[in-house]
Amino acid sequence: MALPAGVIETDALVIGAGPVGLFQVFQLGLQEVQAHVVDALPTPGGQCIELYADKPIYDIPALAVSTGRELVDKLMAQIAPFNARFHLGQVVTTLQKQDDGRFLVETSRSARFLAKTIFVAAGVGAFQPRTLHVDGLAAFEGTQLLHSLPDASVCANRNVVIFGDGDEALEWALKLCAANADGHPHKAKRVTLVHRRDAFSAAAQTVERFRALVSQGRMQFVPGQALGLETVQDRLTGIQVLDADGQTRTLPLEMLLVLQGLSPKLGPVAQWGLDMERKQLQVDTEKFSTSEPGIFAVGDINTYPGKKKLILCGFHEATLAAFGAMPIIAPEKKVLLQYTTTSPKLHKLLGVETQKLA
Ligand code: FAD
Repeated sequence: MALPAGVIETDALVIGAGPVGLFQVFQLGLQEVQAHVVDALPTPGGQCIELYADKPIYDIPALAVSTGRELVDKLMAQIAPFNARFHLGQVVTTLQKQDDGRFLVETSRSARFLAKTIFVAAGVGAFQPRTLHVDGLAAFEGTQLLHSLPDASVCANRNVVIFGDGDEALEWALKLCAANADGHPHKAKRVTLVHRRDAFSAAAQTVERFRALVSQGRMQFVPGQALGLETVQDRLTGIQVLDADGQTRTLPLEMLLVLQGLSPKLGPVAQWGLDMERKQLQVDTEKFSTSEPGIFAVGDINTYPGKKKLILCGFHEATLAAFGAMPIIAPEKKVLLQYTTTSPKLHKLLGVETQKLA
């Protein structure tokens, strides 16, 4: 079959770089399969990074305690020898079976893969920014509307309105405002923070610093909700806000930062024609195959009798899914269970020296 230009052929595509997707890469690596991994987020780690990066986990076998971030760092180090290719910051949108049995997969950034096997490790869905529901806003995405900030330079000398109440929103408000006071080259001209009410979920210390700057008149706080946009030609010039007194007012702006955190959206996974039960993919417990042979589902996204949404359970599922996929990836290959302690072949794959057992 002639391949359309730019399509990446692979034995295995892992959808989701949460802890289970990462361990899937490891288990495939032990089977000599190099994986491509796609995730909606800009960094690997899934819920561990997005929801509890600095909180302790106590039930990972042999790790008495580790934070979400430490666990992800360890998993990344563990999979390093297998050279997985990461495609981050993009959502897998479509998945179609081809006549030759492989799957054509496309992402929101137009990356395309032709994969012999798919491992859906999509957890509770693709993490996407919580945006404002205002008509016409999407047209400014990436130019005057940002859901995350690479650095302060994009707001230099600009009139900035920020929506949000958490650490990210308040810390950026402080940074852009402090830059103002310190004569920083990337200072914003004016910073206004908008949130539904005068209560914030950011750390107490951050809220305290924020309130101090507001009371000094160095930044503005407007309790309210977004109603509509004001534009001049193709430029966003202001946002209408319904304030706490029921009045509509317009906040002029040059940059709009919507920093309201991320929420997972199951989204495309539900449209791939796979059997589902209550928003989860049904799998067998021998190979963790979905209703479509060649597509496996591991971690929080799957369901089966007795399913527990725990990282440890996902690790087990990923192990059996890797074994289960081998007859499809390499039908001619005899797959034997080998121990990482004693197998010279696995040592070679892992890039470690074989130690003689006493
Ligand atoms: P996730 O971690 O959800 O990762 C899925 C990834 O897939 C995400 O990064 C997402 O962006 C991506 N994705 C989804 N759809 C797409 C798509 N279409 N395209 C591209 N990318 C996509 N478990 C424990 O075992 N012990 C604990 O102590 C523990 N504590 C927890 C504390 C909290 C507060 C929470 C919320 C959960 C906790 N859990 C704990 C549960 C644990 O985090 C999950 O079981 C685990 O994260 C599941 O891993 P996963 O890889 O299946 O999915």
